[in-house]
Amino acid sequence: MSPNPIAEPIRLRLADRVALITGGSRGQGAAHAFRLASEGAIVVLADVLDEDGERTAEELRSKGFDATYVHLDVSSPEDWQQVYEQVDSRFGRLDILVNNAGIVKVTEIAEESLETWNKILAVNLTGAFLGLKTMIPLLKAGRRGAVVNTSSIFGPSGAVGYGSYAASKAGLLGLTRTAALELAPFGIRVNALVPGGVSTPINAQEADGGVVPETPLRRRAEASELAASVAYLVSDDSSFVTGTELVVDGGFSAR
Ligand code: NAD
Repeated sequence: MSPNPIAEPIRLRLADRVALITGGSRGQGAAHAFRLASEGAIVVLADVLDEDGERTAEELRSKGFDATYVHLDVSSPEDWQQVYEQVDSRFGRLDILVNNAGIVKVTEIAEESLETWNKILAVNLTGAFLGLKTMIPLLKAGRRGAVVNTSSIFGPSGAVGYGSYAASKAGLLGLTRTAALELAPFGIRVNALVPGGVSTPINAQEADGGVVPETPLRRRAEASELAASVAYLVSDDSSFVTGTELVVDGGFSAR
């Protein structure tokens, strides 16, 4: 190594890494795509919002990044198989998987329908399970895989009206730890992101500011602040970090 590190050419942290981001059409997923692409990654956005996804991918390409959009309902094993085939035929590997897609509906348990419970679990938890399960062969092929599962502060804690959502997000923490143990022998790291309130379309209708009053920093995060943490978790800067949770919540959990 050169005694003067400045003499070394600067290499982007995620140069040439292939990244698949679910729920990438808008919100945090789109912010993750921009951040990872700006650090050198080739990004594939996957979502059910096709128009938004194509627009986001086009915006990325207009900035000179390598970005494509694919249709994916994360709760569908058939859709995952199609995405697997597309990524395999184009790259033969996957370096980064961000299981970010998620939905929420606020209803107390006594009023919650089984249909809604099943839907929220199917997208938020089964979606990440299917993503991991389907993509493991491609993650192994890359030999430097990093997976991030987006949980929530309503994973480690409960919240009135969030029974299905909290169960799905708590489940993701268990899935993350187990996947980290099972995939460590292959050099694949798996971590959970635990966001507090973030300004995105999912909570745009919340008139009361959601968790802002209980957040010591007294605001919602910008999606880009979560993207910075995802970039860390999927880069070699976190090479010894696996099976854990990165809480990005403005102090919510410290109370
Ligand atoms: P968002 O609604 O803007 O983004 C969610 C994305 O997931 C959308 O693009 C949506 O189309 C996509 N999606 C929904 N169902 C899907 C499906 N079946 N298949 C594929 N994609 C699907 O909201 P966001 O804040 O960007 O949410 C991203 C993640 O962060 C979610 O998992 C959410 O639960 C989590 N989260 C959000 C907050 C917050 O305050 N915004 C806080 C904690 C955790």
